[in-house]
Amino acid sequence: MPTYAYECTKCRRKFEIDQKISDPPRKRCPHCRGKVFRVISGGGGVILRGNGFYATDYRSEDYKKKAAADNGSISPASEKEKKNKAA
Ligand SMILES: [Zn+2]
Repeated sequence: MPTYAYECTKCRRKFEIDQKISDPPRKRCPHCRGKVFRVISGGGGVILRGNGFYATDYRSEDYKKKAAADNGSISPASEKEKKNKAA
C-alpha cells in the first residue's frame, strides 16, 4: 500500500497516510480540519496534484525556504577557490 504525504494549508502540518491507489485523496487535516493537499516527492522538486491554488500557495512559502537552503549548502565561494588553486 503506498504512503501518501499531505500538507495542511491551514496549520502547515505534514502527515502521511497509507492509502490504496483507488482510495480518494484526503481533503481534511486530522489536526485542525483544514484543507490539505497531497504532496508527491521525488527527484528535486515537488509535484502537486489537484487544485492549482495550493500549488501556488505552497511554492510561495516553501520554495523560498528551499532556495535559501540550497544557497547555504552549495557555496559559490568553494567553486572560486577550486579555480584559483588550479590557476
Ligand atoms: Zn491542519
